[in-house]
Formats: sequence, structure tokens, C-alpha cells
Amino acid sequence: MDRGAELDQSILRIAGVVEESIVDGPGLRFVLFVQGCPIHCPGCQNPQTWDPRGGTEITCRKVLDKILQDPLVHGVTFSGGEPFEQAQALLPLALALRERGYHLMAFSGHTLEALLTRPECRPLLEALDMLVDGPFVEAEKSLELRFRGSRNQRVLDMAATRAAGWKPVLHEMHGSADR
Ligand code: SF4
Repeated sequence: MDRGAELDQSILRIAGVVEESIVDGPGLRFVLFVQGCPIHCPGCQNPQTWDPRGGTEITCRKVLDKILQDPLVHGVTFSGGEPFEQAQALLPLALALRERGYHLMAFSGHTLEALLTRPECRPLLEALDMLVDGPFVEAEKSLELRFRGSRNQRVLDMAATRAAGWKPVLHEMHGSADR
């Protein structure tokens, strides 16, 4: 199937979007909140995104068209919900964005090491520039962290991580006054 057909036929289940955000990754970004999360972290800020039957369906094509409408946006973040529950459905969108030079970031409640054990997650991991991984842990919560809710989570530099043979490499933006 060519990329155009994949974009038309790949259906995502989403909780919503934020068309311009400066808090969900570097720069001005479009944020896609996918619907459905099996992790159920105590203290999760978005429990309305847990139900895999909730939200609404939308094709990758429609999401891409929305993103392309805004010339100020150069980055896209997949948040949730748990994006890797829809890793295969997200892939045509991720690849189309990469081809157009967008910076791609995702949040996951799973660790990179856990995602790497699931072959269906690998192509999406290959497409990312940054990954914030790990569950939200209330006892580790801090409001001082950049992009992370709790200290156990990591901001990973995915190009460096791939170059290191998938050994997790922290991104320079992982650091903060409160590690
Ligand atoms: S992984 Fe994210 S969306 Fe899922 S329960 Fe944890 S904090 Fe909430």
C-alpha cells in the first residue's frame, strides 16, 4: 500500500487534539491525545482517556491535514492515553510527518525496554526524535520537571538511543533543577 492509501485507511481512536502547545515538547507543537490506556496509573491526570471504546475515530489523513494547516507548527507530540496501544495505526501519520521534516515526540506509560519487547512498537520507535517513557508514579511526582510528571520518567533522545543499539540515552532536555 502506498503512503497516501495508508493515510486514508489507517484509523485512530483519539481523545482530542491541541493545535498549538508550548508545554508538550520543544517549540510550538500539535498534540494528539490518543484514546485508550491500559496502564491506569494512580493519580493520572487524564483518566477520561483510559476507555479504549471512548473518544472518536479519525483517519491519519485528517489529522495530517489539520497539522499541515498551521505553518507555525514544526513539531508533533503523541500523548494519551497510551500512544503505543495504537502504534501501528499511528505509523503512517508518523512517517508522513517525518518526510515533511516535523520533530516527533511521544509519551508512553511503558518503559522503552518494555516497548522494545513488542515488535509492533518498533517502527514507531524508529520514527521518533524524543520519547518520554515510564508510568506516572505519584510518590515521584514533581511540578519542577520539564515534560515529565514524575522523576522516574525519562526524556530520551531517540536518535542517540538508536545509535547506541537501543541503550536508553537521556535527552539534554531531561535535566532540570529537580531530577
Ligand atoms: S500511562 Fe499516562 S494516560 Fe495512562 S494511566 Fe498512566 S499517566 Fe494516565
